[in-house]
Amino acid sequence: MDAVLFLGHFCESHGPCVMLCTQKCKEEPQQSPHSLTVPWCESCQSVDLDLALVSKSDKFCYVTTRTPLQQDLAFLLKQAIVRSLSCEEEPSKEGGTLYFGDNERGHIISHTFSLQDSLARGFHRKYSISMLMKDKIHLLNLWPSIIPPIKEIASELQEKAAKVNGAEQIQCSQRAARQAQGSPGHQARSLPQLTGEPAIFAHLHMWFTWLLSCERFVEKPVTIPKIPIQCSPGYLRNLQKEMADDVFRVACYCVLTGMCLQCDDETVLAAFRQLIPTYFKVPTTGPPVKLIKRDIWKIEWTGVLPNKLPTLQTDVEEALKNENLTNEMLEPHLSSLILHWLNVAKSLSWTPNPDHNLLQALGINKHDLPLLTYWTPNCK
Ligand SMILES: [Zn+2]
Repeated sequence: MDAVLFLGHFCESHGPCVMLCTQKCKEEPQQSPHSLTVPWCESCQSVDLDLALVSKSDKFCYVTTRTPLQQDLAFLLKQAIVRSLSCEEEPSKEGGTLYFGDNERGHIISHTFSLQDSLARGFHRKYSISMLMKDKIHLLNLWPSIIPPIKEIASELQEKAAKVNGAEQIQCSQRAARQAQGSPGHQARSLPQLTGEPAIFAHLHMWFTWLLSCERFVEKPVTIPKIPIQCSPGYLRNLQKEMADDVFRVACYCVLTGMCLQCDDETVLAAFRQLIPTYFKVPTTGPPVKLIKRDIWKIEWTGVLPNKLPTLQTDVEEALKNENLTNEMLEPHLSSLILHWLNVAKSLSWTPNPDHNLLQALGINKHDLPLLTYWTPNCK
């Protein structure tokens, strides 16, 4: 069931009553609403019983009537009004908002408020605007978007009533008015009279239609994850120029495939480690690969480079050598290359037994496997 919005009132003569309700329908109502079986007076009255205020959108109609179009709904609304205006009453003077309900009688959020009326008991009348739904979670999710406009409608009614009341006070004091009327409650005034707004029910229809028809979007703050790559490749580029090709290549290969690269100069090590994501574990055991600078850079390694290097390493070396790429351009370029292979490794880490098709889809070649053997466990 879609949401139903309704206005309730606590009549001094007739108790809590539903004054009007707005429903979303697929088509215009074909028959007049059900008749009222309860006694009513001017203050309980809203639109005429045989009248329906209808607003149409492309797909739906929004229908406001004195009583709901379905008889069983009338019963639910009446119960909701009784609870919102008496049992579940919110004690604050400004009124209050509350939720109540169950799966049988529907779930309701209700805002109760009072309007000034110099002729009423306690000089005010109590009203409530409520929304009924079958789905509790859906209804409560609407709370942040539905309650502020309902409160605004209520405060607009209150402002209008205060204005009317203020004008009355200037003409005649409350006490004098009381004495002129005899006991309170004898002249129950309608909402148009209280607010000085003859078309107040049409206004309510428009407000309720808007509330039922508007789509809701909730803005949520998003914390953008930080890229786990810190790469300022200027120094690495210098090292590439300083070192012989094969020395630089072995150093890169060792870092990218998780071998234990050692060097007395920590800044040199840090420059190479920029090529792997920041949270990767750097191996401290295993046969060490020593990078030494005497007159020239040398590397001590017992291994042999494969014929074909991992794609990432080839791309990095090419980029470093490419003089068309300034250091500023190189930084995002290398970051995106590293990030690409990080994502490939992550995809592999989610798959227990990757088959040939997956490797192909991810663009993995045989020469990438030494790199991925190190990267994939680091992604878990
Ligand atoms: Zn009444």
